[in-house]
Amino acid sequence: MGKSLNDLAKKLQFCEHCGFCRSVCPFLEASNMEESVGPRGRKTLFLSLFEGKVQPTPRLAQKFYMCGVCRACAVKCPQSIDIAEVSVHARHIIIKANALNPFMRKVANSLVKGVEDGDIFGAAATKAKWAKNITIPNDSGTVFFASCMDTSMAYGELLVDTLENFGWAENTLMFLSELVQKLNIIKFLDTFLKRKNEFYRKSLVNTINLLNKLNIRPSYLGNDEPCCGAALHTYGLLDEFTEHAKKVYKIFKEKGIRRLIVHNPICGGIFKTEYPSYVDGWDVEVKHVIEVVAEAIENNGIELQYPEPIKVVFHDPCYLARFMGVVDEPRIVLKTIENLELIEPPHNKRETKCCGGGGVELIYRDVAISAAINRVSELNTGNPDIISSCCPVCALMIKKGIKNLKLKVKYVDLIDLVNNSLNP
Ligand code: SF4
Ligand code: SF4
Repeated sequence: MGKSLNDLAKKLQFCEHCGFCRSVCPFLEASNMEESVGPRGRKTLFLSLFEGKVQPTPRLAQKFYMCGVCRACAVKCPQSIDIAEVSVHARHIIIKANALNPFMRKVANSLVKGVEDGDIFGAAATKAKWAKNITIPNDSGTVFFASCMDTSMAYGELLVDTLENFGWAENTLMFLSELVQKLNIIKFLDTFLKRKNEFYRKSLVNTINLLNKLNIRPSYLGNDEPCCGAALHTYGLLDEFTEHAKKVYKIFKEKGIRRLIVHNPICGGIFKTEYPSYVDGWDVEVKHVIEVVAEAIENNGIELQYPEPIKVVFHDPCYLARFMGVVDEPRIVLKTIENLELIEPPHNKRETKCCGGGGVELIYRDVAISAAINRVSELNTGNPDIISSCCPVCALMIKKGIKNLKLKVKYVDLIDLVNNSLNP
């Protein structure tokens, strides 16, 4: 299962204490450079935890949960030390020792239940609603994996908004969220969140429209689509993740699925980089939709024109650039669009900077919002009309950054931009 703790601890002994990782950690920057919540500090704390010199406690947990598992440190480290991996394994040790505080324990329980039911926000009853007006086949070995984060992110946004605006105690919020699920009022809430739902779900409809225009017709599993379990992995619930990943693979095999196309790079990144270590024989090909579109443009050409001249800055999601390794394809596609001027931000491609998400937004919201503001300030340096990306968590955090900075720039999903540029 994953990497052994001994191997991880051995690798950490090669740390040169150079501090290159500190220069790129978005949460270190957002928390006033406090060493113990930066990558080098986490490395030292992990070794002390591994050697039994410090005990797992809720206070220690805070040091490891204030990491967005973004892997920016791994790109800078001369020894390729990945502190995201360190954080995930430290969280696992802390969970096993039952040392989470009551709120974080509740979050863990809610994630386990959500993933098992097929939707981390507990909205499995409405997750296939985005596809109700379109026809998608169900007999292809290639499947569009819609992702519960994309279909239900409106609920995540509601949670973050509530915490940000009212600062309610976490336990109260968790109680209310459990109550919503128990009373089965998800369908009512779904209507109440109409505008927010449309914002996230339209990118899924546009993905199918775009793929069909390119003569690619993937299936969709609808309510049978399992959650990929990314949240279990990042939260450190590794035993539950291992079991869940095996179940997901079994479902894919039974349905004859050989290839997945994703819009959410978090699911794509977890399938591509973690499933092979946790599932024996994992052999499912995983592509982001922008890779498929870029291939089609290179092979067959396709005319794209935005309706009016616009300046667009592209924010590489950590999971797209550093987990899936996809950095050229968004640029190939965006440069094909007439009327669109592409701006590169500071920190791009594999050196991209996290949007402030990575799960931190639900636990340490002030630090997460500061990180979002820092990233949006950078993205806005070339005065773009549009900030574009293709991850539901980046969308949420970038919108938060724009709102806090009171900027005019708009957030538009990459696939929506491409779809809006298709010639009629
Ligand atoms: S993974 Fe990202 S947030 Fe975590 S320590 Fe590394 S740079 Fe910081
Ligand atoms: S960049 Fe790598 S070697 Fe340098 S301090 Fe960070 S973890 Fe250690």
